[in-house]
Amino acid sequence: MSNTSTKVVVTGAGGFIGHHLVAHLKKQGYWVRGVDLKYPDYRKTEADEFEILDLRRSDDALRAMRGGIDEVYALAADMGGMGFISSNNALILHNNALINIHTMEAARLHGVKRYLYTSSACIYPEYRQTDAAVVPLKEEDAYPAQPQDAYGWEKLVTEVLAHHYHLDYGIEMRVVRFHNIFGEYGTWEGGREKAPAAMCRKVAMAKLTGNPVVEIWGDGEQTRSFCHVDDCVVGIDKLMRSNYSEPINLGQDRMVTINELADLVASVAGVKIEKKHIPGPQGVRGRNSDNTRLREVLKWEPDISLEAGLARTYEWIEAQVKAKLEAQPELAASVAVGK
Ligand code: NAD
Repeated sequence: MSNTSTKVVVTGAGGFIGHHLVAHLKKQGYWVRGVDLKYPDYRKTEADEFEILDLRRSDDALRAMRGGIDEVYALAADMGGMGFISSNNALILHNNALINIHTMEAARLHGVKRYLYTSSACIYPEYRQTDAAVVPLKEEDAYPAQPQDAYGWEKLVTEVLAHHYHLDYGIEMRVVRFHNIFGEYGTWEGGREKAPAAMCRKVAMAKLTGNPVVEIWGDGEQTRSFCHVDDCVVGIDKLMRSNYSEPINLGQDRMVTINELADLVASVAGVKIEKKHIPGPQGVRGRNSDNTRLREVLKWEPDISLEAGLARTYEWIEAQVKAKLEAQPELAASVAVGK
């Protein structure tokens, strides 16, 4: 089947990765229906059709999958950064379980042949991530299971659901475990933003107000790897085209501390900052992706450097912060007072 006659649904198409994925799939020539509770926040969607639906409801999930859809990219989730994930366990488990159970079943009932589920590095057990100098996580490290939060438990259960939909119903399943995806046109304020976007916002505030203090949760020595969204959507596309149906990591395998992340953003911004370490949720102590399987299966791995990805992301977030400060001069003044 040629790309132009392949009909795909992207759920979570109003979200950060989802709206980038829609743009990527449109470039490849697919017919795309986007589904979400909302339209993308910062750009117009490129989807052929966009439906506002609540996938916690079975009738809405069935509507999302109607009309001869060939492939589904399931990205919808109630999620955010560590602050949101660590303090909304019941809400997240409830909402995401309903979204995934209904979306997968609706796809099956409508005869969808290929389905990609977006899992997370948050499924990995806490006991393997207690050291900042963590051993990179291999896919088989997931068990015995002990994710830190309900967000990770739900992802793991849906991975199991995907496995059985593959075995019992013959749906071609793809399961991708993202490791910290970042980039332009993503949430950068409001409580759901993740570390790279939050850091870009804080550094932009420091630069634009002249107050050099940048707050960091914890001692900043916790480690992570960060992957740019443009690499992420290419990886998703390649995985969907592969014949690999087991879970697979998708991320960078270069680990940095949060303090190093702050320094990198400051250097991109060309500003001197003063790091202030304050109490806050930090997640696991260390996390990195082992990309051995990714390289074997896809003959590819992400190659946008952290510096290059942060430069693009910072530029976009600085423009957002600048517009906000211009619209709210009293905010600029109150931040600058702390100088
Ligand atoms: P996002 O929050 O920007 O996008 C998720 C979208 O799902 C949002 O637009 C939201 O409105 C939508 N949604 C939530 N509830 C819904 C519902 N009931 N019905 C329909 N839509 C609903 O998040 P993202 O960063 O784009 O993440 C996409 C997927 O990747 C998610 O499944 C997430 O758990 C997973 N993931 C992301 C990362 C990351 O670093 N961004 C890491 C690991 C896993």
